[in-house]
Amino acid sequence: MNRTNRDWLPSYYKTDALLPKIPETRALFSFRPYLIQDFIGKSISFLESDELKGMGFKYDYRRVLPCRWKCSDESLFGVDLAIYAYTKAYPFDKGRIGGYFNPDSLGAAVHHGSINVDVGGSHVGYLPDNDGGTFGKVWRPAEREFSADCGHIMAVLAPFKRVYDDACNNILLLKPESERALVSIPNEYVQPSWSSEQIKLLVDLDKLTDGEVDYKHDLLHTHTMIGRSLFYLHKQFQDGLDEVAAQKLCTPKPKRIGRHLTHRFFNIWDTRAEMKDGMPRLRLHLYMKFMLSARNSPPALKAAVTNTAIEHNRLADAVRANTFQNYDFISFSGIFIDQYCKEAKSYVNLFQPMGMTIKPRGQTREREYSPDEIHDILERMPLATPKMPLEGVFGYKRPQHILDSFTFKPGVFNRKEDLSCEI
Ligand SMILES: [Zn+2]
Repeated sequence: MNRTNRDWLPSYYKTDALLPKIPETRALFSFRPYLIQDFIGKSISFLESDELKGMGFKYDYRRVLPCRWKCSDESLFGVDLAIYAYTKAYPFDKGRIGGYFNPDSLGAAVHHGSINVDVGGSHVGYLPDNDGGTFGKVWRPAEREFSADCGHIMAVLAPFKRVYDDACNNILLLKPESERALVSIPNEYVQPSWSSEQIKLLVDLDKLTDGEVDYKHDLLHTHTMIGRSLFYLHKQFQDGLDEVAAQKLCTPKPKRIGRHLTHRFFNIWDTRAEMKDGMPRLRLHLYMKFMLSARNSPPALKAAVTNTAIEHNRLADAVRANTFQNYDFISFSGIFIDQYCKEAKSYVNLFQPMGMTIKPRGQTREREYSPDEIHDILERMPLATPKMPLEGVFGYKRPQHILDSFTFKPGVFNRKEDLSCEI
């Protein structure tokens, strides 16, 4: 009989309950992001267009309160400058450090302007190169070093990533002569009390393995190694490998499982996470295994996408409340991509929209627009005329070279360090 280890999981992981879906990074980045100033300029043209009027939305610019929700990081100040240059208004802050939406800000915001136009999301640093670049870091001129960006989100990810990387490096695959493929798993990834870590990772024995390997005195590879358990490798895992990977991994000499440890084959959780209603208060935790093992996205970018999706949903939910029925909300949510430009001596922000929702007053449900629709609308829109010259407000010329240096496309990015399976 094949034994399961699912009973060791926290209750919110035990069931095969479906989690709400997060937009695929691959689909989002089939479009190029905008320079934030271009995005704001085109959005304003859209807000003033007949196209919006046709949607039954009465846009009276005198009643507009531009708002932003984003991290507190100074690398994102370009967003505020772009809003200021185009509207001559200081954006109202609906955000908190980490790129979280702050629902307590809504009461004041609607009294300051009954049409709230929100721009918000998570941010992620980007170091460009010709291979798609690296996400999660940015140049800090004051310290003259590269450091984490968004520092908060990267700090949330870091302890999970350390445990996940360890599992990738220490779960071993092998195929002894005239034997089925096997998987050797450190005991702490089979049963959680074998590790003193606060973060626990458990492989899914039901999906990765197909029964324990019995001890046979004359077969050396079946002798139990102290600290490890040995299983037959599940056919489902082998079927998921392409031919090259299968040849590389299933050899008499043990190989690391590496990034082939995808979300189907493990669960990871923080035993001391702050809980609310039986689940981690930070919903980002529920998506941890998807962020760590994403195939088409570096973890830092996937984390920004996931956090933006979660927080946009919180915002859309908050404005549906009865209290806000008589106000208008237009919300653009997406990912801010930060780079430091040494010539301009300034941070420059790109923006990749993930969604737009329009909730006219009197209605409780918003109309939603997909990234395709947003790009389609904005492509047709001219840049509005800024209220103040952009160059004067930003203090540098249009940073076209920063936009041009963004080479990330789905499937094109650096993850070379993760791919080695040699021990
Ligand atoms: Zn941040």
